[in-house]
Amino acid sequence: MKNGMQIKTALKIAVGPDRFHENPDKLSEYAHGGAFVAGQTPLCAVEPKTTDQVAAVVRAAVETGANLIPCSSGSPRSQRGCRVPADIPSVVVDMGKMDRINRINRRNKVAIVEPGVRFGTLQAEAKKLGMKALLPLLPRASKSVVAAYLEREPITIPKYHWDMTDPMLCVETIFGTGDMFRTGGAAGPGSLEEQWKSGASQKNPMGPAQTDLVRVIQGAQGTMGIVTWSSVKLEVLPAIRKGYFVTSPRIETLIDLAYAMTQRRLGDELFLLNAQAMAGILEKDKAKIEGLAKKLPPWILFYCVAGYEIFPELRVRQQERDIAALANKLDLKTVPDLNGARGDSLARMLDEPSPEPWWKDRLKGAHAEVFFLTTMDGVPVFLEAMGELADAHGYPAEDMGVYVQPVQQGRNCHLEFMLPFDPKDADDKKRAQDLFDEAGKVMFEKGAFFSRPYGPWAELAYSRCPDTVAAIKTVKDILDPHHVFNQGRICL
Ligand SMILES: Cc1cc2nc3c(=O)[nH]c(=O)nc-3n(C[C@H](O)[C@H](O)[C@H](O)COP(=O)(O)OP(=O)(O)OC[C@H]3O[C@@H](n4cnc5c(N)ncnc54)[C@H](O)[C@@H]3O)c2cc1C
Repeated sequence: MKNGMQIKTALKIAVGPDRFHENPDKLSEYAHGGAFVAGQTPLCAVEPKTTDQVAAVVRAAVETGANLIPCSSGSPRSQRGCRVPADIPSVVVDMGKMDRINRINRRNKVAIVEPGVRFGTLQAEAKKLGMKALLPLLPRASKSVVAAYLEREPITIPKYHWDMTDPMLCVETIFGTGDMFRTGGAAGPGSLEEQWKSGASQKNPMGPAQTDLVRVIQGAQGTMGIVTWSSVKLEVLPAIRKGYFVTSPRIETLIDLAYAMTQRRLGDELFLLNAQAMAGILEKDKAKIEGLAKKLPPWILFYCVAGYEIFPELRVRQQERDIAALANKLDLKTVPDLNGARGDSLARMLDEPSPEPWWKDRLKGAHAEVFFLTTMDGVPVFLEAMGELADAHGYPAEDMGVYVQPVQQGRNCHLEFMLPFDPKDADDKKRAQDLFDEAGKVMFEKGAFFSRPYGPWAELAYSRCPDTVAAIKTVKDILDPHHVFNQGRICL
């Protein structure tokens, strides 16, 4: 099948001519391939506005054999997100126009958002009701909330990260048959409106019965279904919040403190950065970033303490005292500012997306990322290996940003190496690319868990578990029997 004209005609009918695009200028927006992959232009793109239109798009793809690539974040496109394959005629399903917040509820601290909703919009609406959204660390402004949560971008508050699926709860999705399916409490009985009337808020991700299909859809890189909305956790807006820094020449000591804090559920936002990454957040200009990185201590743990509605001052004071005592035992000191930067100001920054340019690109204009899950006590092994690799490739180790985000209440962590490079300097780019390529393999051999296996990492991760690959393929055949979604991604 796969006749370009047939595909275009069927899709134009599915969404209507206004939501169908084949203009090369518009299509070039989707041609971003990531740090090192040349972008490909899709055959066409559609921008559905309703769940029914998404279902019609999927049915049209089944009829014509189109390959659908769902994407939700706006330009500039993610390095990891919707990538158009070179050899398959593909249609981008841009969910950006489905941008309503369908419900926001203070009593149950939950919102229902469509994929086009961005963090800035959700945060502004949540604040009006005395709540806050749970953000990844300074996402780019165009990042979709639903896409970030689908991709398990880590949030910065480990104690509110109860489950690996958090803060994503229930979803509505269109499977590869064109059927609509709702997961968790949203599955029923009753419509959403009837559930709201009876006090239900789509907060329970389990269901229907003993299933939780979010666990299949999340992290699947758009291969299992297209999510049309998700209920997401919100938290109470603190009445008082303070930000503190703890610094050390050795990350091991800060990791001990992070374990001690997360075990006791102390602190809200809590993460570790090296000097380079912190400088990239606090400064915008290349020279200033380089200057600040030289002045800062090598490792920085940042945390916030917050008081809410009940005895907020008391809550903050008690936490400040307890954390200072834990730090003291490790010969560390908690301080409210770092080289003139106020912890309270950084705390406020964390509530919003990154100001432009995106903090990860500020040093050299572009970056590659190597990230995976490990446990915090495993981090030093990976740091040492990455330092050795950088030296071997002639990559300046001092340019490398490191971000350690405890997740699931400190049970494990997201470890991220940011490798800035100048996209206009071929040598610089090649150095970063060579390091990126080898780092994936070396980190994997050392036990890195690529829970989000993008690009070359998929081969690494899945080559060791053929039985899992067989199970994933079986599930794929059930949920997307005609294979209309994102061919060639993960192990499919
Ligand atoms: C009683 C019980 C309670 C649980 N409670 C919770 C809970 O509270 N919260 C929670 O989040 N989970 C919970 N789980 C789920 C459990 O934690 C996960 O199933 C587990 O972490 C995944 O490990 P696994 O050994 O099952 O599969 P794995 O073999 O680890 O595989 C998991 C997935 O990762 C892929 N994979 C394998 N290796 C790699 C690699 N190196 N890189 C990338 N991908 C890879 C596989 O293909 C597969 O898709 C619970 C499970 C049980 C049985």
